[in-house]
Amino acid sequence: MTRKADSAIRLLHGTDGHKMARTLLEAQDAARLVPSGAPVALKPNLVVARPASGGATTHPEIVAGAIEYLLDAGVAARDITIMEGAWVGDSTRRAFEYCGYAALARRYGVGLVDLKGDETRAVDTPVGMIQVCVRALEAGFLLNLPVLKGHCQTVMTCALKNLKGCLPDSEKRRFHTMGLHRPIAALAAVLRPALTLVDSLCGDPGFEEGGDPEVTNRMYIGEDPVALDVFGCDLLGIGPEEVPYIGMAAVLGVGSATLDEGDVLEIGPDGKPLEAAEIRAGQSTTRRRHADWRTLHPDLRIEEDQACSACTASLAHALEKLAREGVDLSALPTIRIGQGFAGHTPEGGIGIGRCAGGIGCPPSADSVEALLRKGMA
Ligand code: SF4
Repeated sequence: MTRKADSAIRLLHGTDGHKMARTLLEAQDAARLVPSGAPVALKPNLVVARPASGGATTHPEIVAGAIEYLLDAGVAARDITIMEGAWVGDSTRRAFEYCGYAALARRYGVGLVDLKGDETRAVDTPVGMIQVCVRALEAGFLLNLPVLKGHCQTVMTCALKNLKGCLPDSEKRRFHTMGLHRPIAALAAVLRPALTLVDSLCGDPGFEEGGDPEVTNRMYIGEDPVALDVFGCDLLGIGPEEVPYIGMAAVLGVGSATLDEGDVLEIGPDGKPLEAAEIRAGQSTTRRRHADWRTLHPDLRIEEDQACSACTASLAHALEKLAREGVDLSALPTIRIGQGFAGHTPEGGIGIGRCAGGIGCPPSADSVEALLRKGMA
């Protein structure tokens, strides 16, 4: 069954993120979704303080295009706020400066809010109460601006998972103790962006913090975050069943996990549908390259218990580097990682991050690499 027209996904290829953002928002007639005088929240992905060219963060020119579209549609600059909370262990303010968002806010006179310092409110969700940042909850129009990329724990991240940046750090950590997928789906059931504009210009298909981007020169837009994530999986060459939170969100009524032929419409630079260019489900354009160290290194003895993404990514990076050097990883003693070890890490082995008896919260990939080398010596 084809979804209603306003749930369609519009796809646009190109290299000018600024123009593409405007074209997609116009094609979607986004202005109709903005209540008059309501606070407008723009939620990019600034998980780390790294430039968008590295494949982790939303290109600021896309957000600039969105702001200009909104201003042209009559939204007052004072009502627009860019908001984000970087991942545990990184500074959002540093990301705002480094990624060009502080300059963007100054140029257009819009607000810039580090959600790590925002007030929170407990919201009843299908997995219990979750503390959510008030600014995100109170937005009259929430425009989600994720990057399509890989993730070392959830395989991929895009529309649904980008909302995790609207949580205080304490809740981000707690999500990992809850298994990550269920709370991500539950959050999407209570925090619903009106629209999601996906930056897929050059996301890193392996890691959420970037470093190995793949230029794909495309962006897409839609109102259904579940359908958008299913399409994102397709583009990454991943089966949506490999990303449990997508199916869970569908069960909770967040959106449709079925992508039918004709649901994705490719448009041209003029915003009009391209003739005979309908994208069909099952058409993957990116080779799979997510970094799952469990699959890549089955001989490793890794005990994981509620590890945060930042810790996991540092371990994955360090292991990948050693593997590239031809180091025999099976010589490593047992590696422990995660909040579940806090206060009672067993003797022996290598502990990654403060929780598991190591150093740093989160530890850097370099420090983990040094630890692993020492552990093998
Ligand atoms: S040490 Fe790692 S697992 Fe523990 S809280 Fe910090 S980032 Fe999370």
